[in-house]
Formats: sequence, C-alpha cells, structure tokens
Amino acid sequence: MYDAIIIGGGPGGYVSAIRLSQLGKKVALIEKSLIGGTCTNVGCIPTKAILTAAHLYTDIKEKAKKFGINVENVGFDLSGIMKHMSKSVTMSRKGIEYLLKKNNVDLYYGKAIIKDTTHVLIENENRIIEGRNIVLAHGSIPTIFPPFDTVPNIWTSDDVFKMTELPESIAIIGGGVIGIEFATFFSALGVNVTIVEIAEHILPYEDKDVSEEIKKALKKNKVKILEKTKVEKISFNNNEYVLKTTGENKEETITAKKVLVAVGRKPNIPDDVKALGLKIERGIVTDKTLKTSIDNIYAIGDIRGQIMLAHVAMYEGIVAAHNIAGDKKEMDYTAVPSIIFSNPEVASVGLKEKDVVNQEEIKIFKFPVSANGRARTMEERIGFAKVIAHKETGKILGLTIVSPSATDMIMEGVIAIKYGLTAEQLADSIHPHPTLTETLLGAFEGIENLAIHI
Ligand code: NAD
Repeated sequence: MYDAIIIGGGPGGYVSAIRLSQLGKKVALIEKSLIGGTCTNVGCIPTKAILTAAHLYTDIKEKAKKFGINVENVGFDLSGIMKHMSKSVTMSRKGIEYLLKKNNVDLYYGKAIIKDTTHVLIENENRIIEGRNIVLAHGSIPTIFPPFDTVPNIWTSDDVFKMTELPESIAIIGGGVIGIEFATFFSALGVNVTIVEIAEHILPYEDKDVSEEIKKALKKNKVKILEKTKVEKISFNNNEYVLKTTGENKEETITAKKVLVAVGRKPNIPDDVKALGLKIERGIVTDKTLKTSIDNIYAIGDIRGQIMLAHVAMYEGIVAAHNIAGDKKEMDYTAVPSIIFSNPEVASVGLKEKDVVNQEEIKIFKFPVSANGRARTMEERIGFAKVIAHKETGKILGLTIVSPSATDMIMEGVIAIKYGLTAEQLADSIHPHPTLTETLLGAFEGIENLAIHI
C-alpha cells in the first residue's frame, strides 16, 4: 500500500513524488510517456535549448565585429541545433530518473487508469496498485480549434521539435508566450515570420509598453505583426497555407509554408478522472491545500486549468506533498513570476500597470536599460525595469523587466513582493556594479525620487 500514487511525471508530479519521499512516505509515480512531461520534453527545456542557439547566432552576427572579434562565414546547421536540443532534453530526463531512484520513488511507465479512490491500474502491466492518496498531475494539451483543425499538418508547439528543416516562412497564430518565443527563434534564423494576435497587442497578459519593446526587437528581424486580427479561413494550396484574416478595418491574405497554432493549452482530464465525480470547472477544482472535492485526491499543475507554468506546478507539488504528509501548507499565488525567453527577455511579478485600480494609491517608476552601464558594455539598449509601489508604505506591488537576463533578475521582485519589502529597503541593498541588476536599483531609487543614474 502506497501513501500516495502520483499520476503524471511532469514537473508537478515528479517534484511532489520526491518531496513526499523526503517526508518519509511511500510513493508511486506513473508516467505514460516520457518522464519530465511537457516541460522537459516538448516545452521549457527544448525551447530554451534552441533559443540559446538562436540568441548566440544573433549575437555573433550582430556584435562580433563591434567587439573586435573576427568571424567569417557565420552560418548554422539546423541538425546541430536539434542535436543540442535533444542532448539537453535527454540529460534532463536522465537527471529526473536519477533523482527519483535516489529518493526511492517507485516509477512505473504505463498508462494509469483510476479504478476507484484508492486503486489505480497500470494498463500495460495489467497491475493494480493501492494508495491512501492520489495526486492528479496529468498536465495539459495544446488547444486547437476551427478553422485550424480543417487543414492538414498544422503545427502545435509539440510538433516544432520534430522538424528536420526550417520552413521558408511561418504564420504563428497567437502572440502569447509560446508564439513570441518561437517567433524569436524562427526570425533569428532568417525565417519569414508573421504573428496573428487576436488581442489588443502581443503578450496581452503583460503591459502595453512590454509588447512595444518586444515588437521593436522582433521587427529588427522583419517579423510582421498583426494585432486585433483573427484568422477567418485557412486553406492549403500549392504547397503553402493561405490565411484570410480580418483586422480592425482591414482584411488580409497571408501565405506561409507552415502554420504554428499557439493559442493556449487546456487541462488534460481523461475519462477515468471525470468518472470520479470531482468538481471540474475550467480544470480540476481544489482548495488552497490542493485537495479536490474528494478528500484523499489532490490535483496539481496544468490539470487545474489555472496558472499553467512549470514553476507553479512544482510548487503546487510541494504544497500537496506536505499536506498529504500531515503538515498544514497553503498555496500563495501573490508572487508568481512570469517569464518569456524573447530577445531581450521579459519577466514580471505582482501587479501590472494595466491592472492598477486606484492610481492615487500607487507610484510607478521606470528605469531604462539604455542608462545601465553593464548593458552598454553588452551593446544592449532595448528594455526597462518598471516598479509599482504602494505610495504610502513604499511596499513593492509589482515589477516588470524587459532586459537581457530579465528571467533571472525577476527573483528580486518575487522575494520583495512575497515578503512585503519596500522600495527603500531594496534601494538600500548594495547592488553589484556593473551589473544588469542596477536597472532594478535605478527603478527602486526612482520610487523614492532618488534615482541617480537618470
Ligand atoms: P498564452 O495564453 O500565453 O497565449 C495565447 C495567445 O493566443 C494570447 O495572446 C491570445 O490572445 C492569443 N489568441 C487566442 N485565440 C486566438 C485566435 N483565435 N487568433 C489569434 N490569437 C489568439 O498561451 P500559449 O502561448 O499557447 O502558452 C500555453 C501555456 O504555456 C501558457 O500558460 C504559457 O504561460 C505556458 N508557457 C510558458 C512559458 C514560459 O514560462 N516561458 C513558455 C511557453 C509556454
């Protein structure tokens, strides 16, 4: 008898399994495909591997000469990029298997089918295991809807990693996180990219000034961006896709050799999970301890249909594990960082300017990357750090960064928001010089009307 059976070996599931084991519990983890889930195999890790290659290629092309480095015949070989990607994925997967083994988690490869609230069948082994608790960590799948399901071979993010040659042109539907990361990759390698975004601007969950900076960067690579635009019709003729779009006052026809649909993901809730009779809305509903409407069943990660991010799934896995082990731990979503590996990167946490309700209560300061000395040494000038603080208390409420290394630097804001730190406290913390973190320092000082470098 297991203390917990975890279904799904993505970042939520495997982290939860390890934590449960660390807490002295007997754990089974069942994975029907590859350990590591979407993130490790067709998400975070492979995209970051190919984007790192694309960023390096851009840097060599654009900066080598300016830095006095002679490079001739700069080029790339897609198979080499894909090899680097596969190696990163395989190493990550092996690492997870090693960690599970080290922590004595019983890992079963096979399809899990829940028989009742304490029994799970591992289909290919025809074996039923019993557990006091079940953790649902089935993840999510890409959304695809009409008209995109009416033509053959439309790509979702899962398919891009199987490509053996670069398309000459690509239409990317959806200018969200996946759309922008792939637009960055393809355009850096010279593919003709068109982004079709239905919302007011690309990256609609971020502030408008973020999307303006990223548009500037993408347009350098000749990316065509259509906002407030919908694809009405799509067909495939003479080896290319033809998309009829309607924008605000304009109809357009776009042609592309490939179409990538990146319009969001939906929770993967199979029939055996539905048959349990759990409360389901957009995804499986849980309380703050990640417990579902059935007492011994927990749900973590994308299957909840809430914030679909690997780092949120991991944290939910940890919180669920502690609750199963008898500790009391609740989820706190006040400081969830969001990160985009565009070039430059984007990262944000907490309150956004577009969501401010009472302007009187807050103060905003924006410090530009162009005023940062370290950025100058790197020949980087696009971007900013924007801080939103409470006017009276000075507490940091939100931080948005567009800058190289934004995805690493956002942690300063995460800690500040989580622990209620003020702009004064952060400005009073010595930031190393010369580093990109001084863009944040400038913004914190600005909240105090004491910005020195601008
Ligand atoms: P998303 O929600 O980030 O973006 C979807 C975009 O598609 C939005 O901009 C939306 O307005 C647009 N859209 C929706 N319907 C459309 C239509 N009919 N025509 C044109 N545009 C349309 O979703 P995603 O980019 O598919 O990513 C899926 C999930 O994976 C998200 O939760 C995302 O946060 C996560 N993810 C995270 C990272 C990261 O953390 N770096 C990377 C990749 C994916």
